[in-house]
Amino acid sequence: MRISIVVPCYNEQDVIDLFDLRIREALDALPVDYELCYVDDGSSDGTLGRLRALAADREESTRYVSFSRNFGKEAGVLAGLKETTGDAVVIMDADLQHPPELIGRMLEQFRSGHDQVIARRTREGDKPLRTALSRLYYGMVNTWADVELTDGVGDFRLLSRRAVDALLSMPEYNRFSKGLFSWIGFDTVTFDYRNAAREASETKWRFSALVNYGMDGLVSFNNRPLRVAIYLGFMLSAVAAAYAVAVTVLAMIEGPDAPGYVTLLVVMVGLGGLQMLMLGLIGEYIGRIYYETKRRPHFLVKETNTPRASGTAQGEGARTASPATAPSRLETR
Ligand code: UDP
Ligand code: MG
Repeated sequence: MRISIVVPCYNEQDVIDLFDLRIREALDALPVDYELCYVDDGSSDGTLGRLRALAADREESTRYVSFSRNFGKEAGVLAGLKETTGDAVVIMDADLQHPPELIGRMLEQFRSGHDQVIARRTREGDKPLRTALSRLYYGMVNTWADVELTDGVGDFRLLSRRAVDALLSMPEYNRFSKGLFSWIGFDTVTFDYRNAAREASETKWRFSALVNYGMDGLVSFNNRPLRVAIYLGFMLSAVAAAYAVAVTVLAMIEGPDAPGYVTLLVVMVGLGGLQMLMLGLIGEYIGRIYYETKRRPHFLVKETNTPRASGTAQGEGARTASPATAPSRLETR
C-alpha cells in the first residue's frame, strides 16, 4: 500500500525542514510506502529553495510543485492532489499544527473501510470570543447550507483514492474545500485531536479573511439566501399593503392626518438598506458565475520535479514551463 501526503506551503521556510523530518519519522514507523507532495504556493521567502533541497535529498519519495504566484491554499491542495499516486492521501499543513503521529490512526480507519478520515481539532486554547463566534457561525450555516459543515473540521484528513478522484472531478473555480469534502460524501469518520501551536512564522488568517471565508461558506453551496430575499420581499409587500388599507380607512373615518414623518423616513432608509443588501447578494452570485465562465486554470506551475504533465484542458492547472531540476526516477503508478 502506498500513501501520499499533500502539503501546501506558503512562506514556511522556517518550519519546512522540521516538518519533513517529523513526517518522515512518523511515516517510517508505519508499514506503508509513501510519497510527499509539497506545493509551494508562490512563497516570497526561501521555501522553494528548501523544497528543492529536500527533493534532491530524497528524490524517490519527494515531489514538489511551485506556483508562479500565490494562488491560495485551495489551489495548493488541488495541485497536490493531482500529483498523488497513493491508495490513500493525507492533506496536512506545513506548520506542524497537524500532528504527523495521527496518520497511523487515520490509516487504521482507512483499512477498516472508510473513505474519509477526518481529524477534528478541539478549540482548546483558542480565544473564547473566537470560539463563540465560530459556534454561532456554524449553527447558522448548517441551518442554511445544503452541505454539513462542522466546527473544527479543516483540511487535515485522509482520503481514499476514489474520494480524491471525486474531488478532482469537480472543476469549479471557487473551491470552498470544506463544502467540497462534505459534498462528495462516502463513508466518513471523525476523531478529535488537540491542535498544536504553530512552530514558526505566523498564521495567514486575518479577521477580514475569516469573514470572507464565512461568506464563501454561506453562498458557495446553496441558493437559499436568494430564497430568503424573495420571502422577505413578499412579507414586506404584504405588510405595506395592510398598512395602506389601514391608513386609508383611518383617513376616511377621522379625516386626513399629517404626522408620519419619522415613519416615512425609517421605512425609506430601512427599505433602501434592504435593497442594497439583496443587490449585493445577487451580485455575489453573479460574481461567482463570472469567474466560473472564464474557465481559467486554478494555478500556474513555475517549476516542478515531477515528469508528469497534468492536463491543461478544462480549467485544470496549467504548466507554463517545467524545468525539471532533478530528473525524477519516480514512474507514475
Ligand atoms: N497556505 C498556502 N497558501 C496560502 C496560505 C496558506 O498554501 O495562501 C498554507 C500554509 O503554508 C499552511 C496551510 O496553508 O501550510 C495553513 O495555513 P495557516 O497555518 O496560515 O492557516 P491556519 O492554520 O491558521 O488555519
Ligand atoms: Mg496553521
